[in-house]
Amino acid sequence: MTTNDQLEPMPGDWQRALAIVAHPDDLEYGCASAVAVWTDAGREVTYVIVSSGEAGIDTLEPAESGPLREREERASAAVVGVREVEFLGHQDGVIEYGVALRRDLAAAIRRHRPELLITLNPEDTWGGTYWNTPDHRAVGRAVLDAAGDAGNRWIFPDTDAEPWNGVRWVAVAGSGAPTHAVDVTDGLERGVRSLMEHRAYIEALTGEDPEKYARDLIEGFAREEARRFGGRPAVTFRLFSR
Ligand SMILES: [Zn+2]
Repeated sequence: MTTNDQLEPMPGDWQRALAIVAHPDDLEYGCASAVAVWTDAGREVTYVIVSSGEAGIDTLEPAESGPLREREERASAAVVGVREVEFLGHQDGVIEYGVALRRDLAAAIRRHRPELLITLNPEDTWGGTYWNTPDHRAVGRAVLDAAGDAGNRWIFPDTDAEPWNGVRWVAVAGSGAPTHAVDVTDGLERGVRSLMEHRAYIEALTGEDPEKYARDLIEGFAREEARRFGGRPAVTFRLFSR
């Protein structure tokens, strides 16, 4: 089933990746299956989450919700072999694109020194169908910008870590215009379990059984993307080289 819209495989010659997203759960709606494949191959992946997702559960006050969602995110990360998760403490729902955010992200990139940066769709929409949220737009754009900021010693010269100009690619998950993909055959089951760790969030969101909800979504996305990747279950990215 080859067509002319087949995606390229993601580059494989890297050792450290840093995934930066707005909320706990952003990486679990698909991307985590690819993370499982990467950590299996001995690569190191770290998560930086810009807010604690404290505005994400209608029935729970932010002061309770934030710590709960941080715990769920750490458990999700552990399922796919990610040991380190940092939370930057920006306010959920009203994350502002700007110099303050770029500075925090450049500092994170300098601390972790990744070759591959991963973030979530900063476009206006999801595939032209659903309007994207302001937090996703702000964080995704700031990650793309901070890849360059981190390497310039004259931009944000006062961060603790030294400049890091080693980011070679930024991979945007959930893009409406993907260019690359990862075969997630071996990571899919952990991708499902990783999303299931957001149990309190999912239970507040839907009446469905969390496992059925997670399995239908994660397997459904991967099957849909398979059409563009030789029939293999896939997670797709729009890749920007630097
Ligand atoms: Zn989100």
